[in-house]
Amino acid sequence: MNAISGLHEEALLAERLLARFAELGADPKGGITRPAWSEAETACHDALAEAAAARGLAVHRDAVGNLWLAPEGLGDRPAPACGSHCDSVPQGGNYDGAAGVVAGLLVALRAARAGIALRAVALRAEESPWFGAPYLGTRAAFGLLDPAELAQPRRGDGLPLAACIARAGGDPAAACTGRPLPEIARVTAFWEAHIEQGPVLLDRGLPAAAVTAVRGHLRHPAARCLGEAGHSGVVPRHLRRDPALAVAEFLMDLDTLWARQEQEGADLVLTAGMLSTEPDAATPTRIPGEVAFSLDIRSADPAVLGGMERVLAERAAEIGRRRGVSFALGRAVRAAPVALDPRRAAAIEAALPRPFAMASGAGHDAAEFARNGVPAAMVFLRNAGGSHNPAEAMDIADLMAGVEALWAAIRATGG
Ligand SMILES: [Zn+2]
Repeated sequence: MNAISGLHEEALLAERLLARFAELGADPKGGITRPAWSEAETACHDALAEAAAARGLAVHRDAVGNLWLAPEGLGDRPAPACGSHCDSVPQGGNYDGAAGVVAGLLVALRAARAGIALRAVALRAEESPWFGAPYLGTRAAFGLLDPAELAQPRRGDGLPLAACIARAGGDPAAACTGRPLPEIARVTAFWEAHIEQGPVLLDRGLPAAAVTAVRGHLRHPAARCLGEAGHSGVVPRHLRRDPALAVAEFLMDLDTLWARQEQEGADLVLTAGMLSTEPDAATPTRIPGEVAFSLDIRSADPAVLGGMERVLAERAAEIGRRRGVSFALGRAVRAAPVALDPRRAAAIEAALPRPFAMASGAGHDAAEFARNGVPAAMVFLRNAGGSHNPAEAMDIADLMAGVEALWAAIRATGG
């Protein structure tokens, strides 16, 4: 087959599989719903397996239901793997995960034709809404589920995780032995294509990007600022202890710092997603006595997160002193950034028509591989309409740009 008709055939296969996945996940309430370890997810695995088998790949399912597609003759030999997940969030879009399993199949078919050892993989259960935790298919394959997690009821039908795995033909006990399944133990490197879930590539007019790291976070889910309640009309400015203005100043200070960090090239995003005065007492005519707020600070750089932690304490103390209020930032939830393999990321970036690399603000299976010591690499695909909603939109041409970059990087690095 010549290169042009080969590309055309690959694009047609990708389009056909993604259309089939959309049918299998169509939610009567809108969008795409493919729960983890559900019939819809299994049906996507089956559609992939059928397309792979028709093109000469061997089909194999591991003990927890992840699907592996390999060139005939590869047997049990170690090799890199390329893929993603088929499950979606409730009423989500069609491309989160699904684009990556289709890319994995296309890369595996190219590898089989070229005599390069590589498997495609469709992982189970990446999305957290179903059992309250992400990357369950990958963690199960590494043998890392907690036995208590197996009792977790699935959102929607309440079926425990153990029963869901068993129903999909898997063995729940294999998910928590503390030892990796043989299939995942023989993965020498993990390559994943995934839609970008933010607007960066769209904004820059780029089809794809190399991913350098998955951001870690410092989160204060329940921070408070305590002041003194009073009548809005009667208390002069210098006698006020107003937590609303204190929190406003605190957030504006963080925003100014963010802008400066961005100028200096540091990776940082910052969100106060919850912000409220006392819900039962607040009125337009009352100086609030307390403001509750949350902070979510993310960066690919642990030093930036550490620096932000010091800034929070310092700004809270200074503003608190000056304004007569006190900040209680409360419990901190921390997750370290996960670096993806720099050599493979550089190879993906170099293979792009317009080289670009960025950090991922969302977690992915690739990060779970990296956390378990398997070198991992990702390519992001341009996506309009945001993610985890029915408006997700990806062009097949952008998926193909991602496949080209993965394929070139796999050959350049030896997988
Ligand atoms: Zn995903």
